[in-house]
Order: sequence, then structure tokens, then C-alpha cells
Amino acid sequence: NRILLEVNDVKKYFPVKGGLFTKKTYVKAVDGVSFKLKEGETIGLVGESGCGKSTLGRTIVRLYEPTAGDIIYHGKEIDGDISTLKGDKLKALRREMQLIFQDPYSSLNPRMNVSNIVGESLLSHNLVKPGAEYKDRVMEIIEMCGLSPYHIYRYPHQFSGGQRQRIGIARALALNPDFVVADEPVSALDVSIQSQILNLMMDLQEKMGLSYLFISHDLSVVKHISNRIGVMYLGSLVELAGKHELYDTPAHPYTRALLAAIPVPDPTHLRKMEPIIGELPSNINTPPGCKFHTRCPYAKDICKEEIPILREYDPAGHPEHFVACHFAGEI
Ligand code: SF4
Ligand code: MG
Repeated sequence: NRILLEVNDVKKYFPVKGGLFTKKTYVKAVDGVSFKLKEGETIGLVGESGCGKSTLGRTIVRLYEPTAGDIIYHGKEIDGDISTLKGDKLKALRREMQLIFQDPYSSLNPRMNVSNIVGESLLSHNLVKPGAEYKDRVMEIIEMCGLSPYHIYRYPHQFSGGQRQRIGIARALALNPDFVVADEPVSALDVSIQSQILNLMMDLQEKMGLSYLFISHDLSVVKHISNRIGVMYLGSLVELAGKHELYDTPAHPYTRALLAAIPVPDPTHLRKMEPIIGELPSNINTPPGCKFHTRCPYAKDICKEEIPILREYDPAGHPEHFVACHFAGEI
């Protein structure tokens, strides 16, 4: 498959306000992330809360302006580096890239009915004429998302959490995007509803040719929907691999610790793993060298000084398995 999105060394720093710091200080929410997303692919992004997953997703869809780095997007209308787009070009990009939020209730306007919530962007982008054309398109989308025609005149509070997320998805897909960032889209839902929404997203992906960046702190959810999985730690991508590869042969000590923290139902898959020790350091004064060295049981002197680059780990045995660790393959 062709590459849809290329993220090159993207950084997003937020200035810290307040009197405690004498010199200019930044939260390094995203600190130099690179990866390529293929057309029709889902990359799952996992990591502890505060690791920069959401900020990365929002920076890619340009809700935030990147502090540094390039975002190359091969859409139908937009090519090249989108990290500096403004005005009309940025608006055109918004058609191609959409965001699905964790909590549909707070992201849906309570005073708008479903028809207006889903169709608003169609009108603001002049994609349909008000009237029959508008109504037809809205009907088509909400039915694709598993809602019924009689739902369109109802308001968000009249729906269950799962149905509200269907509305959130319908709104995101109304403009027929190519790329969707889904930020914890099922985390607020009951487990029984989660798989319905995940299956809907996979179904729509196939029908509409979507590519997803799927953000979640829940490794089993990410495993269900992703082709590949990226693991973030303190603003950096520390491992990226096909999902089976990542689960069966995790190479980064942090990934191993994350996997060890989830219950494993099948005893043949039990692996001996160290639990994560110590506290997550602040992302203001991140540790030098490998950011994980303060918690890593394998850390050596070099880990405190040299930043490990995300590189292909044993391309012969594990192609397209990327790891950022000085001792990948040895531990
Ligand atoms: Fe641990 Fe060093 Fe690898 Fe970082 S580079 S994960 S500290 S062994
Ligand atoms: Mg988040």
C-alpha cells in the first residue's frame, strides 16, 4: 500500500506559565516523533496518560501547530508538508483529516439535533445544497453508522453513550475524509458496547477506505483494531511493530512492562516480564539520554547520555519492527 501520511521528527512543546521557572520552560509533549501510515492502515498508539498520544494526534490534524518537524500528506487535494498550512488550504485539509473524541457528549452541541450535528460541516464546506440533497447525505451517513432515520431530529441527551459515539463518528465521516484520528473513542463506553463501536469503525474503514491513528491506553482495544502498534513514552515513540510482532516479541523494556501489566488469559502466552518500577518522570525536565533510563532495569551508562534512535531492529528476522533502545535484541 501507498504511504498516506509521513510524520518526520514532529515536536510539540507548550510553554509553561508561572513564576517557579526563571528561564523559559516547556512541556515537551511530543518530542521528535517519526512514522509512516499506509493507505487503509490502522496504527494504534499506546502509552501511559501524559505520554503525548493525544497531543501527537491533534498536531497531525493541525488542531495544534507543530513546534518543529514535517507532516507530509498525500491526499487528493493536498500534497506536501502540511505543518505550515494556513487559511483556505488548512480548511481544505480539515476535510481530509478528522478527529473522533473520547467523550462524544461533551463534543456534541446539546442544542443541535443529529441532522445539524452531522450535516453542519457539509454546508460550511459548500459540499451540498440545503434541502433534499443535504438531507439525503445526512441520512446516508447516519444509516452507515447504524442509526435510524427517525433519530435525526433528536438531541444528544436522548441517546445512550454508544449511540452518541455513533453520532460522533457520523459527524467525523460526513466530509468523506481519508484519515481519522480516534482519541480514546471507546474508553468511556461499557465493554459490551466497545466492540460494537470498534467493529463499526472497522466496517467503515473498509467501505470508505479510511486510515486510522487509533489512540488508547487500553492494549486489548488497540490490538483488536490495529495493523501496527506504536508505543509512546514521554513524548517519544519507543517501539513500532505489527501487532502480533509487538505482542509476541516486544523488544523495548517499556513495551514489555506495559504488556506485563495487562492480564493474559492464555497461559501459553505468559512471558516473564518486569513490572514498571518508579514513577513517570515529569515531561518538563525529561531525563537525558534514553528517557526511560530512570525506570529501566537494563539501563547502563550509555543510556544516561545518548538518546537511542528509533531504528529497524533485526530487519532479517523482524522486518518493519522499529525500536529505540541501545540494547534492543540483547535483552
Ligand atoms: Fe533501557 Fe537503555 Fe534501552 Fe533505554 S536504551 S530502554 S535505558 S536499556
Ligand atoms: Mg489523551
